[in-house]
Amino acid sequence: MDKILGGIYVGSVVPIMTHVPLKVEYHVSHILSCMKFDKIPEYLVKKGYTLKNIDLNDDSLYFDDIVDLIKYVNEANEFIDHAIFPNEENYNPLEVNFKGIKQKSAIFIHSFKGSNRACFYVICYLMYRFGFNLKQATYAVDRKMINNKMELSDNVLEQLNLFEAMGGRFFDPNNSEYKQWKLTKCNEIDPSGQLSRQMIAKDNNMFESEEDSANTEKVEIDEKDLQVLRCKKCRQHLAKSSSFINHEPPAKTSKESHFFKRGGISGNRIVGVEKSQDMCTHYFVEPLNWMKEKLLTEELLEGKFLCPGCEAKVGAFNWKGSRCSCGKWMNPGIHLQASKVDKVDAIKKQLAIGVDRRE
Ligand SMILES: [Zn+2]
Ligand SMILES: [Zn+2]
Repeated sequence: MDKILGGIYVGSVVPIMTHVPLKVEYHVSHILSCMKFDKIPEYLVKKGYTLKNIDLNDDSLYFDDIVDLIKYVNEANEFIDHAIFPNEENYNPLEVNFKGIKQKSAIFIHSFKGSNRACFYVICYLMYRFGFNLKQATYAVDRKMINNKMELSDNVLEQLNLFEAMGGRFFDPNNSEYKQWKLTKCNEIDPSGQLSRQMIAKDNNMFESEEDSANTEKVEIDEKDLQVLRCKKCRQHLAKSSSFINHEPPAKTSKESHFFKRGGISGNRIVGVEKSQDMCTHYFVEPLNWMKEKLLTEELLEGKFLCPGCEAKVGAFNWKGSRCSCGKWMNPGIHLQASKVDKVDAIKKQLAIGVDRRE
């Protein structure tokens, strides 16, 4: 095991299996286990350690490449806080700074090998508690790893980047990039869309939430700039801009920005090339509540979305991905068509509803 910072130790399961007296030798009072135990080692319980087990394998949709570590970040951070900073009045890192406060006890954070998953939680904690950016936090852990080497998997790196994109403080299950990441991963494993469908059926958070995010600061900013898409025909509210999966149109010189027309006997010969359009004709969105039935019950790879108000065709989905007019491939492709919707400010929309009610 290696000492990272103050009372934070990281390592493999070996010290536990070999009954290292962590309390006596390292003043460890808490143990965060990021692995599956068939049975929690009895001696840990007997010796009075405070234990928390994040069972990352406890997922009926378990695949090594899509192990979702980030969804446990908030509880992991809370546990580490209570280990090394017990009895604080306020733990919100946006309000209080614990830099320079003496750590009271020590915690051992371990996974099976201690080189990947345990490091993930330590890195996230340093970002959350001390405001490190991802680069600083990764370096802070890496340079202290002497007995074990840090080897972060692509999956872990992607989730660290997601955490940084969320602000590096709190995991937000409603974050649309996170949902998109999960769906894309599922689709890579199972291009039929079946796995994605199972995953969104199982996890209610995967659908757009009407509730405000836990992070109140963020909500205030969002409210001001929030826009909504509504049906052109019947004005039914279809999506909030906070549910958009934004994309950058590919560079004009790239292959992605050209549409190749194929033909010939094989159907594979390129018979024409068209440049992409400057304007995007698609709004890609996270799975929205009103799409639930369609996305979950259709056993299809692709389908159309009808407006819940007037049944006009307003969009479509394709689990294999779909292409915007700008050329960008999005996977999965859940989109509303720009020509079928109006984008208006959310505030104005509320006023409009007020007028409608008086009529
Ligand atoms: Zn586009
Ligand atoms: Zn409509």
